[in-house]
Amino acid sequence: MFTAVEMAPRDPILGLNEQYAADGNPKKVNLGVGVYYDDNGKLPLLKCVQAAEEDMMKAPSARGYLPIDGIAAYDNAVKGLVFGADSEPVKSGRVATIQAIGGTGGLKVGADFLKKLSPGAKVLISDPSWENHRALFTNAGFTVESYPYYDAAKRGIDFEGMLAALKAAPAGTIVVLHACCHNPTGYDITPAQWDQVIAAVKAGGLTPFLDMAYQGFGHGIQEDGAVIGKFVQAGLTFFVSTSFSKSFSLYGERVGALSVLCESKEEAARVLSQLKIAIRTNYSNPPIHGGAVVAAVLNDPARRAVWEAELAEMRVRIKAMRQKLVDGLKAAGVKQDMGFITSQIGMFSYSGLTKDQMVRLREEFGVYGTDTGRMCVAALNSKNIDYVCESIAKVL
Ligand code: PMP
Repeated sequence: MFTAVEMAPRDPILGLNEQYAADGNPKKVNLGVGVYYDDNGKLPLLKCVQAAEEDMMKAPSARGYLPIDGIAAYDNAVKGLVFGADSEPVKSGRVATIQAIGGTGGLKVGADFLKKLSPGAKVLISDPSWENHRALFTNAGFTVESYPYYDAAKRGIDFEGMLAALKAAPAGTIVVLHACCHNPTGYDITPAQWDQVIAAVKAGGLTPFLDMAYQGFGHGIQEDGAVIGKFVQAGLTFFVSTSFSKSFSLYGERVGALSVLCESKEEAARVLSQLKIAIRTNYSNPPIHGGAVVAAVLNDPARRAVWEAELAEMRVRIKAMRQKLVDGLKAAGVKQDMGFITSQIGMFSYSGLTKDQMVRLREEFGVYGTDTGRMCVAALNSKNIDYVCESIAKVL
């Protein structure tokens, strides 16, 4: 039965992890995966999460099925976070939100719904983008193409190219946009450039799908969410996927969401009913624990304040590591200006290193990043930074 089954290629990033685990170099550093580690190199368990879990343990509850769209208090908290609790879309009830299995689940439920709604539409993703965007939309049945984004020569964004591609896209094209902290490059467009993107999306009748996997990791929760307000103001209807994997350090609990902004409350009810079909036929309904924890934190002002402070701490530490990387590379003798690293935002840096240099980093120094030159700056710490800087200086 399975004789014709071919071996699928290894996931490039998870494959890197396996290679890292097998590496005997005591100085090895894993900058491959997109995970935040604290200054001790440990995956944090946030205090707000621990406190919410302690409360849950004190009043244990039975585990019935959740509704198909998840915990209502969670979905409402997500709406508030993404659109603003007092915003017009939330108050008028025209947002349909479902609890999803991670940000990936939110994207997939959205993709399945879109495939039924606009089966002939093409999907445009940034070049480059998070690896799974292409695979996920392709598997949902779409033809996926890309719009220009990173310009290696410029060490920045090819904004003219991006805008021209959006302007040339046929009406109905689904455009996947990173709401903040672009993965993998670390380069975000400016608010003024967002205005131009929104104008092009509106004029061209495109369908925006905003992927917000890092709200709060860029400039702040409100600041990173401001782009959503811009789309609302433009009078557009659109999709937003949310992930709490990083912002709550709840990677393995798979907590995410999909929100669809509709034109009216009545329309949102119809859209929600279709999202529920996509969920029901995939995994029936979401798991309880992660959503319950996030809801318990976001809906309790004191606990939410703790979360905001813990998120700010992660954000500030990443920024400090970017600066240390720039300074450390200079101190290690790197002549070229690496200052671009501090103009990037979020967990990642496109370092500008070539594939050969990344392979040397790995093989000779045990410093792991992807072949594209992407490094996770959120995995740097005061103990490994000097070694990473010296290693990079040697391969440059
Ligand atoms: N979108 C982007 C841009 C991401 O970087 C990630 C996580 N690496 C996701 C979505 C998926 O998030 P999750 O792990 O919550 O499924």
